[in-house]
Amino acid sequence: MKKDVKNYKSIESALIHGGISGDPLTGAVNVPIYQTSTYAQEGLGINRGWEYSRTGNPTRAALESLIAELEVGTAGFAFASGLAAETAVLSLFETGTRIVISSNVYGGTFRLLDKVFDHFGITYSIVDTSDLNAIEESLTPDVKALWIESPANPLMTVTDIRAAAETAKKHGIYTIVDNTFMSPYLQRPLELGADIVVHSATKYLGGHSDLVAGLAVVKSPELAERLAFIQNSSGGVLGPFDSFLLIRGIKTLAVRMDRHVENAVAAANFLRANPAVKRVYYPGLNDDPGYEVNSRQAKNGGAMLSFELTEGHSVERFFSSLRLISLAESLGGVESLACHPATMTHASIPKDIREKVGITDGLIRLSIGIENIGDLLADLENAIRLSGEM
Ligand SMILES: *Cc1c(COP(=O)(O)O)cnc(C)c1O
Repeated sequence: MKKDVKNYKSIESALIHGGISGDPLTGAVNVPIYQTSTYAQEGLGINRGWEYSRTGNPTRAALESLIAELEVGTAGFAFASGLAAETAVLSLFETGTRIVISSNVYGGTFRLLDKVFDHFGITYSIVDTSDLNAIEESLTPDVKALWIESPANPLMTVTDIRAAAETAKKHGIYTIVDNTFMSPYLQRPLELGADIVVHSATKYLGGHSDLVAGLAVVKSPELAERLAFIQNSSGGVLGPFDSFLLIRGIKTLAVRMDRHVENAVAAANFLRANPAVKRVYYPGLNDDPGYEVNSRQAKNGGAMLSFELTEGHSVERFFSSLRLISLAESLGGVESLACHPATMTHASIPKDIREKVGITDGLIRLSIGIENIGDLLADLENAIRLSGEM
């Protein structure tokens, strides 16, 4: 099934033709949905490479080879959710391990470490990974991995992935990057020195808010072998139908992302010029603190941004006045979404920690979709105006 000659060079083409594509049996241009749990064996110990779908399924395998190619790793793994992918990756570590995590790490990642892996004696330290000295100081001998998100949700804090990975390598520990916000179209952490990339493919890779999925890609064959063992042993795999949907979504990633980003830049500039907006957080603005580093490691600033309204504006009224943009968790779909990090995505982080890292009650996060930009700006303008009326 594997194509042996890659006659393309660009990621736009790899998104469509990468990994395993089509069906050699029929010539179908799409990988079929192999909706099966098991495979007839020709004799004892003789099979066609497939035995049981937890261990391997051709539709999932096509997705896994695709994401491995896009992230430039040796192997990809597909899971039932982003957090299932993270659970498998964290299962690489032993009792007594400490993981250093970015201070604005995804709330579910924090909860997984704080409330689940805690039972197994795996601890964490929260560090501002945008500060290289802080990383260096945090690396006590029990630390075995650095877990980075860049940009990190919801203040879009940028970490220098290359420099962080260099520091980690110097200490002989792994660098893991949650690349959900950027996608391999905009940023490829393994090329910057990271060892493992994880994705909530529920977001940009799927792109249509119609599935929940997770992916992991590793750089070394050694990690590939260990993670394959964990994936099969713990079993949180993605089903064939969702694997198909995800392959389908990934084909249009480049065109979707280009429009997402074009709209996000326009929205960020619009918000910054609005007197009712106190502050905009978006690494695509050239005066953002993360702009320079982000520009070095990513194609652009992505399509997630946050902002704070000035005093006298009601966040509740802003959300209830939106007409086109939906109030919802999640991100990365074609439709624009607005969320309130303090009570939604980051509610599982204790209030004192939340405020310390800047996630105030007045913060609004936007996932900018691919709708008409005039319609989006009109919706934002109207909701901001009404948020200031008593
Ligand atoms: C959504 C998300 C996750 C969790 O993924 P699920 O698919 O919801 O399990 C992890 N990291 C980031 C950055 C996310 O946005």
